[in-house]
Amino acid sequence: MSARLIDGRAVAATLRAELASDVAAFIARHGRPPGLATVLVGEDPGSTVYVGMKHRECEAIGIASFDHRLAADTSESELVELIERLNADPAVSGVLIQLPLPGELDGVKLPGLVDVAKDVDGLTALSAGLLALGRPGLRPCTPSGVMILLESAGVLLEGAQAVVVGRSNLFGKPMAQLLLGANATVTMCHSRTRDLAAVCARADVLIAAVGHPKMVTADWVKPGATVIDVGVNRLEGGLVGDVDFEAVRERAGAITPVPGGVGPMTIACLLRNTVLAAQAAAGELRLA
Ligand code: NAP
Repeated sequence: MSARLIDGRAVAATLRAELASDVAAFIARHGRPPGLATVLVGEDPGSTVYVGMKHRECEAIGIASFDHRLAADTSESELVELIERLNADPAVSGVLIQLPLPGELDGVKLPGLVDVAKDVDGLTALSAGLLALGRPGLRPCTPSGVMILLESAGVLLEGAQAVVVGRSNLFGKPMAQLLLGANATVTMCHSRTRDLAAVCARADVLIAAVGHPKMVTADWVKPGATVIDVGVNRLEGGLVGDVDFEAVRERAGAITPVPGGVGPMTIACLLRNTVLAAQAAAGELRLA
């Protein structure tokens, strides 16, 4: 039987609608909207498109957005000065440094200067530490989006075998921490994992974030498992994920498509983090 589709576009639309009403309520209470500042250094075409989408989605739900674009030859000290200014600006609830940074600019150190209370990407060492310690904090957007998709699909995580393929700081590691926090039994796999197919075949929840088109084949999937495909691979025929969707959907219990699965959740969770950061800054909740 074909797997149930987990529709990321629909879940993201519901989340955006909820956030729009949270934003309206925030404005009513404080007389100003939550604000997101983005910093784009250089003119990488993919990054330019992503930043544009982030601003459009902010505007659509009433979040103020501040678009900072710097030349590719911007010095480290200029970027540090801007980050410090945004950290101090009360109109800015969240600061996002669009990655990758060009040239010699350090893509870990510089985003790490964002105030943890405004770290809406959730990728600084302090945010990663709070997550690892199980303390409140802003969580990275794509893994947060996966958690919301799993919840929306009614997937039971407590006690489940969850396997995450990919151990990046951006996705795999925080994903594993969030699953652990939800009481799953978590296995992290990577390029050195022995007998990857057999490890994946034990998973009740299998999450692939590798960047290899259609790598996860049907024989890697336990019948009835939930399969979340984070991969985004641009091929001539269009976007494909890391999962061989057509074959795996005949074996899985539930599956996310690419496109239309995890992707739409990432920006929705950035908006959510911006609202959470604004509420925390206003003393309405505790994040760190
Ligand atoms: P990344 O930093 O390149 O990490 C890839 C991970 O996959 C690494 O941990 C690597 O292992 C592992 N890997 C590579 N080849 C493998 C193999 N043959 N078997 C097992 N593991 C293997 O990538 P990322 O940033 O996490 O992104 C992964 C994918 O998710 C990409 O397609 C990216 O576009 C997509 N993505 C999508 C979103 C979204 O919003 N939808 C967000 C983030 C990422 P090692 O550590 O051993 O090298």
